[in-house]
Amino acid sequence: MMNDWKANLTKLVPYEAGEQVEGDDVIKLNSNENPYPPSPSVDRALKNFDYNTLNKYPALGSSKLDAAIAEHHGVGIQNVLSGNSSDEVLAICFRAFFNSKKPVFFPDITYSFYPVWCSYYNIPFKKIPLDDSFRISFRDYTLTENGGVIIPNPNAPTGIEMNLQEIEKLVSENTSSVVLIDEAYADFGEVSAIELTKKYPNLVVTKTMSKSRSLAGLRVGYAIGSQELITALKAAMHSFNAYPLSSVAIDAATASFQDDQYFKETTKRIVSTRENTKTALKKMGFELSDSKTNFLFISHSRIDAYELYKYLFDKRIIVRYFDKDRISDYLRVSIGTEKEMKKFLDAVGEFVEGKDAI
Ligand SMILES: *Cc1c(COP(=O)(O)O)cnc(C)c1O
Repeated sequence: MMNDWKANLTKLVPYEAGEQVEGDDVIKLNSNENPYPPSPSVDRALKNFDYNTLNKYPALGSSKLDAAIAEHHGVGIQNVLSGNSSDEVLAICFRAFFNSKKPVFFPDITYSFYPVWCSYYNIPFKKIPLDDSFRISFRDYTLTENGGVIIPNPNAPTGIEMNLQEIEKLVSENTSSVVLIDEAYADFGEVSAIELTKKYPNLVVTKTMSKSRSLAGLRVGYAIGSQELITALKAAMHSFNAYPLSSVAIDAATASFQDDQYFKETTKRIVSTRENTKTALKKMGFELSDSKTNFLFISHSRIDAYELYKYLFDKRIIVRYFDKDRISDYLRVSIGTEKEMKKFLDAVGEFVEGKDAI
């Protein structure tokens, strides 16, 4: 007879992250990490960190960091909640905002953590198909009642960005539920919905320091929204963990905001490498979406995506392949340094020539 506890185990399907392949020779282009180190201001903050203070809990609400975030984005500190990665902040958002019996809407092709959190919290959801060119049509989200909407802008893994007018229509025509815009990649794009949070009390924007600020290992993310929503979010967060960020993370993350120039320079560099890589891939016959992120979403009419993935893997160049409906002919390639992308392009070039020779 089966033990009760076995029958009662919660069966969850966890998120599958890109593999963390080790080795100095590896070119890792599968997790959208930043190829550059964080700002030297972060290095200084870590070196100056007084270990004597570790016997105390961190400041409640990481106020120093929240103040730096508020200043950077031109919002009030009461409009900011920081947490231990944007994944944590998003999970808390799902818990706090998506608790109606109506389904939460998100695109069929998007960040694959969203359905995972829905199943974790028993939230009903509905996947809204992207159109044939992988675009989001905001009307699909406003015409039917829903328990909330979550959209990454730019979207992942397509890289495609919605413009601000579309976002504003989505938010203003869907006022009875919370709209979450996940701006994990917005620093590489052209728009941010943060200004709109001042006008629309049902809008929350989340950001991460993992990508544009080169701090994936530090685990810091945050949400910006109306005071009402942020207060609700804090209550949810503090029902779970009152001190989510470590003192070390608070100091290091705050220091990152003190060096705007470095942030702008590295972001610009990645965008320029992205555009050069796009051009080179197009010349080889690849089809690419107009990515506004730090990755490319590529396919080729004569090339099997999985074969190319394996070919690159054997050369220690790791990109992301998704064995999923609609996108199994595509690869997602994070933007590395110029040197790394040259090696990537050389390897892809060899593969394409090999195919053409057959
Ligand atoms: C990377 C990513 C996140 C998570 O960022 P962390 O702060 O590292 O947890 C959230 N949403 C999207 C769309 C992402 O790509």
